[in-house]
Amino acid sequence: MGHIYLSIVIPVFNEQENLERLFTRLTAALDAMKQPSEIVFVNDGSSDNSFKILKNFHERRPQQVRIIDFNGNYGQHTAIIAAFERVRGKIIVTLDADLQNPPEEIQKLVAKVEEGYDVVGGFRAQREDSWFRRYASKLNNKIRKYTTNIEMTDQGCMLRAYARHIVDAIVRCGERTTFIPALAYKFAANPGEVEVAHSARLGGQSKYSLYKLIRLNFDLITGFTLVPLQLFTILGFIVSGLSAILVVVLVVRRILIGPEVQGIFTLFAVLFFLISVAITGIGLVGEYVGRTYQAVQQRPRYILRQILDKTSEE
Ligand code: UDP
Ligand code: MG
Repeated sequence: MGHIYLSIVIPVFNEQENLERLFTRLTAALDAMKQPSEIVFVNDGSSDNSFKILKNFHERRPQQVRIIDFNGNYGQHTAIIAAFERVRGKIIVTLDADLQNPPEEIQKLVAKVEEGYDVVGGFRAQREDSWFRRYASKLNNKIRKYTTNIEMTDQGCMLRAYARHIVDAIVRCGERTTFIPALAYKFAANPGEVEVAHSARLGGQSKYSLYKLIRLNFDLITGFTLVPLQLFTILGFIVSGLSAILVVVLVVRRILIGPEVQGIFTLFAVLFFLISVAITGIGLVGEYVGRTYQAVQQRPRYILRQILDKTSEE
């Protein structure tokens, strides 16, 4: 098939309702682009018929479609990493399987990479998600910007294109918990953005519960910055300063006025506040320590069941 120019990477977790439509639109869009391309699907432990459907795509276009089949659910970003380890294109595009990212927009991103941008993020002007998701995303974007210095209009949009060397750098990181768009921005010399259309999910439900979303954002923050720890240290300094002043005031009052038994409830309030600050701090340190521990263990990031690959290249 010669050299592959464009690689499309799609993580799939229980998307049986969407795959057929996705494949039709995606292959039409790719055929129209007239560049040698490949599609790498990663089955992230789906329990529905997704794998069967993917296998059928592979049989229909064996030279173009490869399937990486995980033995369980390892998460969207791990799935993308597994594909990144195996892609062959010069330009790599990631996409969601639920048709929220229109495949017809791929060419816009590719054109931008051809202009010389090494990481191109799509941003959704008109987002078709629940108000809660939109609001949570806005908040996330703000937190990320202030803590990690990574400028991205829309971190949640997974329709993104990367130049080859960026994908190689991401693969070399070997991180366990990661957030690929942020990692890419770390390595980008010339990041760009284009506006892309966004649709409502075609079928099925979002695979992200509130808990999963919170975890993802913890990963993002702890993976890219130590600012939370530093803020805590600063808070510690401020509180110690204030307590030192309080001690002096109390000692002076003791000498001038004599013994006093007042403000028991104030004491409780202050105490509860300080204890909760301390517990939060322990949790925060734990987040970093836990991640360090996992990194040190060096367990495999994912286990494969099989790879379906009939391409003639090595
Ligand atoms: N996904 C995955 N593993 C997971 C969760 C999601 O591979 O554990 C895939 C999912 O199939 C979809 C993409 O990641 O292709 C985005 O998921 P989803 O549409 O549920 O996220 P949302 O659009 O709600 O942010
Ligand atoms: Mg979606």
